[in-house]
Amino acid sequence: MSDTKRPLPQPGILDIAPYVPGKSAAPGKSAIKLSSNESPLGASPQAVAAFSTVAQTLEIYPEGSSRLLREALGEVHGLDPERIVCGNGSDDLLHLLAQCYLGQGDEAVMNRYGFSVYPIVTRAAGATIVMVDEADFTADVDALLAAVTPATKIVWLANPNNPTGTYLPDAQVRRLHAGLRPDILLVVDSAYAEYVTADDYATGDALVTEADNVVMVRTFSKMGLAAARIGWLYGPDHVVDALNRIRGPFNVNLPAQLAGAAAARDTEFTARLRQHNAQWRDWLSAELSSNALRVVPSQANFVMVLFPDAAMAARAFSTLMDQGFIVREIGQSYGIPTGLRISIGSEVAMRGVAEILKSVAASQ
Ligand SMILES: *Cc1c(COP(=O)(O)O)cnc(C)c1O
Repeated sequence: MSDTKRPLPQPGILDIAPYVPGKSAAPGKSAIKLSSNESPLGASPQAVAAFSTVAQTLEIYPEGSSRLLREALGEVHGLDPERIVCGNGSDDLLHLLAQCYLGQGDEAVMNRYGFSVYPIVTRAAGATIVMVDEADFTADVDALLAAVTPATKIVWLANPNNPTGTYLPDAQVRRLHAGLRPDILLVVDSAYAEYVTADDYATGDALVTEADNVVMVRTFSKMGLAAARIGWLYGPDHVVDALNRIRGPFNVNLPAQLAGAAAARDTEFTARLRQHNAQWRDWLSAELSSNALRVVPSQANFVMVLFPDAAMAARAFSTLMDQGFIVREIGQSYGIPTGLRISIGSEVAMRGVAEILKSVAASQ
C-alpha cells in the first residue's frame, strides 16, 4: 500500500515536457502568424458552408464513427472507408496508437528532430522514446534500423518531417519497413502530404495496403481547418479494430465531420493551396539562401532557416516579431537553437519576411 498523500500520475507522466505551441499575436496587436503552418488562403469555402449548416441542431450526438467523413476520404483517396479511423486532430490518433501499442518497458524509435508530439504520447503510455540522429536533418534509415531493439514496438516517422521540412522518398520508407520485425508498427505521419511536390514521394497508403504493420496518419489542420480539429488514419483491419475499441465514442464533432468531408471533396481548393505553397516556398528558399543563411530544402508548407549561430537566430526572431511577423523558434522545443521555422504565408508576408531576414543577415 502506498503512503503518498495525494494522487500520483503514472510513471513517465511527470517526465513529459509540455508541448510548446507556436506563438500568437499579443492581445490587441495585429501580427501575421507564421508559427503553426496554418493555411494562408483560409479554408475551403465549401467546408466553411458545411460547418455552418448544423448550428441549429447542436443538441444531437454525431454519428460516432465519422462515417460521412470516412466515406468522403475513401472516395477522394481511393481507400476503403472501413480501414479509416478519424480523430479530434491527428494528435488524438497519435495518443490512441501509443495507448494501444506501447506500455512500460517498451520503446518507440523516432528521429532526433522529429515531431515533438511523439515523445509526449510515448511517455504518456509509460514507454521510452529512443532518439536517433539524422543525416543533415534528414531521417537516416540505417540509423533508425540500428536503434531497434527487442523492446521496440513503434517507429514514428513524419514524412515530410516537422520542423525540418525534409522527406524520405518512397523507396527509403519501404527500405525502413522491410528492415522492421513484423510486430513493430511503422507510423507514417503524412501531415504535409498535400504540399509535397517531389515525384519520388508516396503518402504511405500503398504500403499500408500491402503490409500488416503500417499506418498512415493524416490531418486537415495544415489545409485550412486547424480550428476544426480533424485527423484521420488509414491502417490494417486489426489496428483499426483496436483503435475503435478505445477512441472516444464521439471523438469527431459533427461540424468537423461535415467540414472535413466538404474539404476533402474540394480538390480544387487543395490544388490552389498546394500551388500557392510551392510557388512561395521556392521563392522564399531562393531569396534567403546566401552565405549567411541556409534554407533546408522543404517539401512541406514551411521552411527551416539556419543561421550561423543561436544569437543571430534569436535576433532574427525578435526583429521579425517587432515588425509583426511571428515565426517559430525551435531551440527549446526541438533542440535547434540556430534555426527558425517559417510557415509559407501570403505573398505580402513572404516578401516582408525575406526583406527583414536579408537585412539581419547583412548586419551580422
Ligand atoms: C501539425 C502536425 C500534426 C497534427 O496535427 P493536428 O492538428 O493534431 O491534426 C501531426 N503531425 C505532424 C508532423 C504535424 O506537423
